[in-house]
Amino acid sequence: MALWKQALAKLRGATDPAQPVEAGVETAVLEVEHAEEADARESESAAIDRNALARALQSGIQLSIGDLDPCGAGWRYRGHPVMVFGTEAPELEGEHRQRDFHSLVHLFPCCGALQTEGRSAWAGTDLQRINAEHGQGPFRFCKVCVEAAAGRGADPAAFEFPAHVRSHADSYFADASCYWTPGANSEPLQPPAQASGQGCPQCGCAALDDGWQLHDEDARRLALAEGICVLCAERRVDGCLHLSGEQLLAAARVRYDYLIGQAARAPAPSWKLAQAILPLGWQPLLHSLERVLPPPELFFECAESGQAAVLAWPALRRGVVERIAGGNVADWKLWSRAQIEAELGFTLR
Ligand SMILES: [Zn+2]
Ligand SMILES: [Zn+2]
Repeated sequence: MALWKQALAKLRGATDPAQPVEAGVETAVLEVEHAEEADARESESAAIDRNALARALQSGIQLSIGDLDPCGAGWRYRGHPVMVFGTEAPELEGEHRQRDFHSLVHLFPCCGALQTEGRSAWAGTDLQRINAEHGQGPFRFCKVCVEAAAGRGADPAAFEFPAHVRSHADSYFADASCYWTPGANSEPLQPPAQASGQGCPQCGCAALDDGWQLHDEDARRLALAEGICVLCAERRVDGCLHLSGEQLLAAARVRYDYLIGQAARAPAPSWKLAQAILPLGWQPLLHSLERVLPPPELFFECAESGQAAVLAWPALRRGVVERIAGGNVADWKLWSRAQIEAELGFTLR
């Protein structure tokens, strides 16, 4: 079976976007000169110092709520996205309620206790490390915070902080493209590459358009295969790739059009296909919509306007776009991603 056919079949059947599409395809072998290794060791010891705060934040540091810098998606501490836990709440009645509040992990100031600047709390980035290194756990996500981040009905047990940072990276890191993972400082990323003529070794996309492959330098630095598309890269990298929403969607569309162009006919709409094709930042919205709407068409041209809806339900004349551009499209009601997320209970931005 052709590589693109396998890729499309696997994308449609993928149950876990983090699973490799095909084991053993990743063949990046880097020829590293001995001199470079020595350089790398030197710069590694410097990097250990630079990352000291990031490493301490994994299991958490104690501070005052007022030390934190609020942004639309949550809190930052000296530039690091953080969650807050272990908060004292002496105003709550009874030791049981205080202990319960102490064990909650919050993403934003969801209640009065978290808006008191002098209040002592802990800020951290890695829930596993927090639970491994603090005796008073288990620490678990606050339901109010999780629903504000991922919509009504989102499950705190299935929630992951790095995925939240990825979905809200525009807010945590502003417009600067970067790579972030708990335990390290964020590092700048290059814009997606010009067409290299080489296909993505994961999904088989070999489109001739620019702007869908990770820059070679970034691929090497993140130990990813050269030529990898940004969609496969964000699923395979350990941490978060933050490129702009427009860059990721443009790449997703190029890859989708290429894979569909190889097929005899377009695949039937399915939520699994939507999850496999769209950037990871869209996944919480897809999970919410899946509970209320049938599977959407992807990148659907609405009427003759030429405006493509990322998600579309032609029978309902409804669609979702990243941003509403210009006037209305005849007979169609388009939501921007922010509008539909607000309707579904997402309040963090
Ligand atoms: Zn909360
Ligand atoms: Zn790919």
